[in-house]
Amino acid sequence: MEDYEVFDVEDLNEFLEELDKQESSSNHNIISDLEIDGIDSEGKWGITSIEHDTIEEDMFRKITLYDLFRKRRGYLNVTDLVSPLWCEVQQDYYLTKKLKKTSPQMIKGSSVHQHLEYETTPPTGRILLNKYSKEEPWALKILKQIEGLHQLYMNGITREFPIWGFYKDSLVMGIIDEISLSQQGAITKEPRDIRDFWLPAAKDIYFTDNKTRFSNTRPSDSQIYQSKIQVMYYAHLFLHYFPSLNLKSTQPLYAKPNERDKKTLEIPWLNSFYKSLNLDGSKDLGTEFLEQSIRTIPIIPEDEFRNNNSLHGLYKISSKIARRLRLNISDKNLGIAYWNPRTQQLSYVEKFDYEPIALEDCYNRTNSFWRTMRDPVGVPPNEVFKCRSCEFRDECWWLQKKQTLPFHTNN
Ligand code: SF4
Repeated sequence: MEDYEVFDVEDLNEFLEELDKQESSSNHNIISDLEIDGIDSEGKWGITSIEHDTIEEDMFRKITLYDLFRKRRGYLNVTDLVSPLWCEVQQDYYLTKKLKKTSPQMIKGSSVHQHLEYETTPPTGRILLNKYSKEEPWALKILKQIEGLHQLYMNGITREFPIWGFYKDSLVMGIIDEISLSQQGAITKEPRDIRDFWLPAAKDIYFTDNKTRFSNTRPSDSQIYQSKIQVMYYAHLFLHYFPSLNLKSTQPLYAKPNERDKKTLEIPWLNSFYKSLNLDGSKDLGTEFLEQSIRTIPIIPEDEFRNNNSLHGLYKISSKIARRLRLNISDKNLGIAYWNPRTQQLSYVEKFDYEPIALEDCYNRTNSFWRTMRDPVGVPPNEVFKCRSCEFRDECWWLQKKQTLPFHTNN
């Protein structure tokens, strides 16, 4: 899982400017505007309105979190869409207090991730060469994809695969921990002509998120649920990134386009992507970038890079490799693998299917957290265990405003 996004200086400046602007205007009407829909369907907590403790908190409600923290960048991370599922109030605190969500466990976790990544992908020394080019960071990500797809094709596994695309109206970016293909390969049809004997058999594709967990017991349902949604986003993004994938599926994971529509489907989503981020897909990336591409991925013929030294060109190379994969989507092709960082051993695996309705529900909820003026919602009474490990529990307005504390906050 990606680290929490750190604010960049522009975001912070924008935020401070907004505060200044708001402070100079009247704020007397703000508190009366604040209403939350109490999540307590049983009415135990009886929260009907909130009064924020500081003017700054009120100010945030004058602009959406997306506009404040993500608009300049132009997209949401998968993490952005998943973290609020744990507790929106906690996520709001992380954003507004400008905290980086890094604990000792996460540091240990990232060392497990790095260990796993280096198993499949040794570091290449690839770097950003032109920091003024908007296209180059995305081009680097596509180089990483090309490398990853080649590994998938040759070795049946790749890790830390960057992916992006649209989920409904949102441009979403993520890094897939692990994509793997079944070793045996599922034969999906009886050979009918001679080509079937030399074409490789379709292989089952799996998407896995690697998590760290010190305990060997099964994680809570809430933790597992959040991670499941995360992996569903990854699968959705990957399978829509390459509309011309050679894919078979009996699941509703992917609405497979007609053969004749495959090629044309690539253009609309790419154009929307370029337009969203104001990128020029056909702009030449320059000689230095070209040399870097050739040097770091020698398996691609030099001429192919020379003829495709643009975002769109590199995407064409990655799509071509993706089309070589013959994929099958089987049952329970999504998974979460929990690793014990002390022993570096696998301690628990959860496998599951893609659930389009669950994913859409979660998206709608989280998207409104980011893009509307509604207030964040804290944990319901039956999930108050989450507060025990929360660093905001002593100051949390959600807990303070409920009538009865569910646990002793000094625990
Ligand atoms: S204390 Fe509980 S309700 Fe408050 S932010 Fe933390 S997890 Fe959410």
